[in-house]
Amino acid sequence: MPTSAVRLAAGALLAGALTAAPAAASDDRADERQRLMQVLASQMREAGGASGRPGLSPRVAAALEQVPRHAFVPPDQQPHAYQNRPLPIGHGQTISQPYIVALMTELAQAQPEHKVLEIGTGSGYQAAVMAQLVRAVYSIEIIEPLGHAARERLQALGYANVTVRLGDGYHGWEEHAPYDAILVTAAASHIPPPLVRQLKPGGRMVIPVGAAFMVQQLMLVEKNADGTVSTRQILPVVFVPLTGGGR
Ligand code: SAM
Repeated sequence: MPTSAVRLAAGALLAGALTAAPAAASDDRADERQRLMQVLASQMREAGGASGRPGLSPRVAAALEQVPRHAFVPPDQQPHAYQNRPLPIGHGQTISQPYIVALMTELAQAQPEHKVLEIGTGSGYQAAVMAQLVRAVYSIEIIEPLGHAARERLQALGYANVTVRLGDGYHGWEEHAPYDAILVTAAASHIPPPLVRQLKPGGRMVIPVGAAFMVQQLMLVEKNADGTVSTRQILPVVFVPLTGGGR
């Protein structure tokens, strides 16, 4: 994998249309979002060979265009909200690079009837993007103040189909399983078996796997109809680590 891919994807470092999600955001940052969309579309095309996705699909592009990223970052980061890079959100955590959010969302192949689990709510941005595309998003955050803030933010912005819970996402969220897709937005040392169990046959999990604070591999895990699992490396990334007891 080219080093540039590592550099581009290092985003995560410092790092819904059945929709209960709100309609298109119209605000004074819409032009900046449009420019970011062009950057994302070209990066997705360039990385198409590696990622196995040909580019940004119209559905995912529309979802990204609708979510006001500036509402998901602290005030001092708002001027940078439409740059294609991760930004600090406090507690040593980050909102992921928009390109990584776009790629992970594409890889999930989300459909309007789908139910999605996210591990690592962070700011709530990835959950909001996914909420534009699917019926329901369940998201787990381990850091209490981040989880509370994300829940309030998502509610205030009208993302009624996202449910946030505090806890260790390693164990998934049995109550709402099985899921059509699972997105893990923190780096795990291995693919958590409880998450594989909670994936539907035919479901897809996108997860960065590798050592903490090193380059990891973004993996696509597909559960076949017979319950067996196939994995594919997508590209090198750098995510903050998955913490908690199960890692
Ligand atoms: N998806 C987020 C967003 O859109 O802002 C960005 C996620 S940030 C890169 C990783 C998040 O995973 C952090 O908020 C971190 O606290 C959380 N996290 C780490 N380990 C976790 C665990 N075991 N269970 C749930 N959340 C975890």
